[in-house]
Amino acid sequence: MTTRIAIMGAAGRMGRALIDACGLTPALTLSAAIDRPDSTLIGRDAGECNGGWALGVPISGSLAEASDFDVLIDFTLPEVTLAHLEFCRSKGKRMVIGTTGFTPEQRATIATAAQHMAIVLAPNMSVGVNLCLKLLDTATRVLGHDADIDIIEAHHKHKLDAPSGTALRMGEVIAAALGQELSDIAVYGRGAGRSEERKPGTIDFSSIRAGDIVGDHTVMFAGQGERIEITHRATSRTNFARGALRAASWIMQQKTGLFDMQDVLGIK
Ligand code: NAD
Repeated sequence: MTTRIAIMGAAGRMGRALIDACGLTPALTLSAAIDRPDSTLIGRDAGECNGGWALGVPISGSLAEASDFDVLIDFTLPEVTLAHLEFCRSKGKRMVIGTTGFTPEQRATIATAAQHMAIVLAPNMSVGVNLCLKLLDTATRVLGHDADIDIIEAHHKHKLDAPSGTALRMGEVIAAALGQELSDIAVYGRGAGRSEERKPGTIDFSSIRAGDIVGDHTVMFAGQGERIEITHRATSRTNFARGALRAASWIMQQKTGLFDMQDVLGIK
């Protein structure tokens, strides 16, 4: 049986990558494509808008008009994602959430909803990045107390939030392996005017926003006489879209709970 997918944010960069990837995944069917109600693309075919063949799926301005689906994949804005949680919960739909930039309170709202529905929430759906999280856990356990740890990320100039959700997730994984809370040891940007030595035990974040960079993340463990760097570079959005579709297939086996890509990939 195929899984029926609805894509929220269908006209966006990730929405278009998902529409492309859906067409290459026989076990999944694109059932609905939704974008903002005032979009000029409402009513147009999702495939044609994406420069491809007509798919027979018009872009709709409301999720309520498109209730014939199993999993909603949402790559939009935090407030947009939250606005659709209750609809999906009440209709027994599952969600795969790729949106980033949630506040701790918004994440708590998602966790509460997941007591009644199945959700995959991952700031980075790439299989490679999630493998890196596993490697970071191992590296931190071996090196973490003897090295200075920096997380350096670069994204395209249109990205709104910084540090990236992926950089923060990497920070959380490292902090957990150190037995700490990220909020207690994170340092965000060492800008001009700051004149002090680095304190031991911090995780320093740096963000670059430039050009069309899809997403680069490097974690540097700088010790005495050696330095280890774990780097992931995304070269297109395809890897995020493929990961999100893998999550959508996987979540059909779950009824309730909040999961991440480590759960989906079985590397927790
Ligand atoms: P984008 O701006 O290109 O697309 C967002 C889309 O959401 C737009 O088409 C916009 O019209 C639509 N939208 C806005 N308001 C809406 C509403 N009320 N109802 C329906 N649709 C609405 O952004 P993007 O680059 O595709 O990224 C979207 C989100 O996904 C960001 O938070 C980004 O950081 C995140 N992202 C996550 C991953 C991951 O792997 N988890 C990868 C890439 C991007």
